[in-house]
Amino acid sequence: MSCTDIDGFSAVAREHAVHPQNCHPLKSFDGHARITGPCGDTMEFWLAVSNGKVESVSFVTDGCEASHACGSVATCLAKGRDVKDVAALQQKDILDALGGLPMEFEHCALLAANTLRAACEDYLKDQKESAGEARTCGSCGRTDCSASKRGDNESEEQFKERQQLQSRLCHIRHKVVVLSGKGGVGKSTVAVNLATALMLLGKRVGLLDVDIHGPSIPTLLGLEGETLQVSEDGLLPIDVGGMKVMSLGFLLRNQDDAVIWRGPMKANVIKQFLKDVVWGDLDYLIIDSPPGTGDEPLSICQLIGMLDGAVIVTTPQRVAAVDVRKAITFCRQLHLPVLGVVENMSGFSCPRCGEVTTILGSGGGRRIAEDMQVPFLGAIPIDPTIAAACDSGRTFVQHYAMTTTAELMRRIFQPLFALSERSDAGADSAELPKQKPE
Ligand code: ADP
Repeated sequence: MSCTDIDGFSAVAREHAVHPQNCHPLKSFDGHARITGPCGDTMEFWLAVSNGKVESVSFVTDGCEASHACGSVATCLAKGRDVKDVAALQQKDILDALGGLPMEFEHCALLAANTLRAACEDYLKDQKESAGEARTCGSCGRTDCSASKRGDNESEEQFKERQQLQSRLCHIRHKVVVLSGKGGVGKSTVAVNLATALMLLGKRVGLLDVDIHGPSIPTLLGLEGETLQVSEDGLLPIDVGGMKVMSLGFLLRNQDDAVIWRGPMKANVIKQFLKDVVWGDLDYLIIDSPPGTGDEPLSICQLIGMLDGAVIVTTPQRVAAVDVRKAITFCRQLHLPVLGVVENMSGFSCPRCGEVTTILGSGGGRRIAEDMQVPFLGAIPIDPTIAAACDSGRTFVQHYAMTTTAELMRRIFQPLFALSERSDAGADSAELPKQKPE
């Protein structure tokens, strides 16, 4: 408690300031709120309710004696009363109960009234839900948003966490995840170029790199060494020519950091990370997933939810075929639409004449796509300019826009550009089941 001159306080206010009542957290409670006022003081209230009446109430504050006096008297006013009446308590009621406060401390009474009301609303909101009333999403205000519905078998805590995440994501119209059966096939290259191509078409685009073992988006966009800006609302993505970019790589001091994390730790880091990014309104979010079909891409797809679908990147060799089959099966088990397969590094494009020579075989991606009845988006050759663009942090479709390969990439991405038209015509994105694929 800071030292405030309480000489000007009434006897009642002085007593509450020096010996605040109910000044501790409640272990078991039905309503809770924590608010930081404009003065920088934080107040927290807990309520336990029985038959609609406040049975126990407590508070804590990091503020001055006046804050303690206001919190203390507010708990006395609340105890035993109907929750709805407590929610209606005003700054004036608290000041009256204290016999007034010097004017410079009156804002403490407002903070106490607001925090107590928020704790009551927290309780009343839960009551409404258990009575079957639909909850509106705190972010977009829709009752049909997935953030507004608690899932079967979901605990309140899990629901709140998912709600926080979903309320970040419900302002994004289309979410596309880029997957690959294994690393090194050009998944991040495809993700960066797809996001940039959409941005160049005037779409509001975010690019999210959650490849925990090799976050390469900072390198591909020349953002190595960038540090993240944090606002009151969370982590601010980096603006690259209008595209919002966020990578786990910005958080890792070095790439070995992630390697030492165990499975649940990784899942937690990814969850926290996803929850904290402030995207704002976007037309598209392109997600660069970790490679493979293991727990990491799985939990990312499930956490993000409501994905439009997946783009699967592969290479033409036979060995890659097994991985691409696995990736398609993974999507099917998650009911995640496969938007298409891209065969990358398919032949070699001569930098002089543009002629494409087959060197690693070709057609593997197309054959599997046809076999498994998913769209084949097209093949991108090995082009030394792509490698050079990646190494120098310049996006290929933007900086080499006039090349044959860039033109080819744009054609390959065409069906993904059309997603917004499809959704305008009523197609839905996929709600993913919560179970793990076999
Ligand atoms: P992944 O995300 O699958 O691990 P990346 O996108 O990081 O793979 O690509 C791996 C490397 O291959 C990068 O250095 C990139 O420059 C290069 N690369 C990707 N696609 C091509 C291509 N079509 N032609 C030339 N180099 C490519």
